[in-house]
Amino acid sequence: MDRPTSPDKIHSLESSSEGLTTSSSDIPMTVSLDPSSDQDKFKNIENIRSTSTGSRFTSDFDVTGKLGKGGFGRVFTARKKLLDKQYAVKIVRATEKAQREAKALSDLQHPNVVRYYDCWMEDSKYRSNFGSGSSSGFSSSSSNSNSNSRPLYLYIMMELCCSETLKHWINKRNETPLQDSQRRAQSLSILQQIVSGVEYIHSKNCIHRDLKPANIMFGKDDVVKIGDFGLVATEIEDDDGNLMKRTKEQGTRSYMAPEQMTDTYGHKVDMFALGLIFFELLWKISSGHERAKLFADARSQRFPEEFSQTFPQECRIIKLLLCEQPEDRPSAGALKLELENYAA
Ligand code: ATP
Ligand code: MG
Repeated sequence: MDRPTSPDKIHSLESSSEGLTTSSSDIPMTVSLDPSSDQDKFKNIENIRSTSTGSRFTSDFDVTGKLGKGGFGRVFTARKKLLDKQYAVKIVRATEKAQREAKALSDLQHPNVVRYYDCWMEDSKYRSNFGSGSSSGFSSSSSNSNSNSRPLYLYIMMELCCSETLKHWINKRNETPLQDSQRRAQSLSILQQIVSGVEYIHSKNCIHRDLKPANIMFGKDDVVKIGDFGLVATEIEDDDGNLMKRTKEQGTRSYMAPEQMTDTYGHKVDMFALGLIFFELLWKISSGHERAKLFADARSQRFPEEFSQTFPQECRIIKLLLCEQPEDRPSAGALKLELENYAA
């Protein structure tokens, strides 16, 4: 498969030797995310702040590049000096959302979910100037400011994936003059892996809530990895088995299920997003404008005539995933079986 360049080195730590230190003097700000033991400590940010003495990030890692930047924070490639291995380190403000992301990732282990290794807090944010020629360093608040008002940053150490996401993969395919003949088979394989990851995430009572090509990456040997658990939620039902109320409009609008705009929804929002991703994987779309029009139509179960003729089976599945009512959409498990049957 014509794929983005692989990361320099992607290693797996079968039995992770990364120590989760909570009190050592040289790495004072590391916190375990074991929910049973350290959850309370993690919530109590002031306990962590009081032990701050230095930066674990610069002492343990050589920062080798920048992978992403946004309102959320930054993602860097960094070589862990002790192991001589490359990782991705995401640095975000230590908000409740960030803690949720790290906790969720630490509970998930699946070939199609980006692997989590460790996380820790620091009271400074690493600033890089990769590509600008200036030096990199730390921005920390002035030492005579009130330490309790200083922001804390959460460093999440993860498996390093290719720098090009599924969004890049799709964009590249869309640049070819004709509908690429291999695209169908490759799209099916990619979708099957995403669905396996989503089935696993749902089996852990989690909802990803922000599935989209920019949040789907590739690991070693082109294995698909679902990342960005920044909006992950736990699926909890109340005593009557009803879905709990949630924050409205969490997610990326174009992939959002209709019920995601309300405050009561469950894991089927992820299945809706998968319907749009499957369509986008298969069908050559030439511009953002065309995409917006096609997505709006797809949300109303309308597809280009040529699409339904070229991909009749896929179109039927996509229509099911894009059903307005969540209960009419297949579960990830059912979709996985369906895809296996038609891939055979
Ligand atoms: P959030 O949605 O939490 O506010 P975000 O969408 O900006 O944040 P991510 O999607 O986690 O954050 O990361 C941003 C980008 O960084 C990704 O699109 C990807 O290009 C890159 N990236 C993130 N994690 C990794 C990783 N483990 N390996 C390689 N690249 C990564
Ligand atoms: Mg993202």
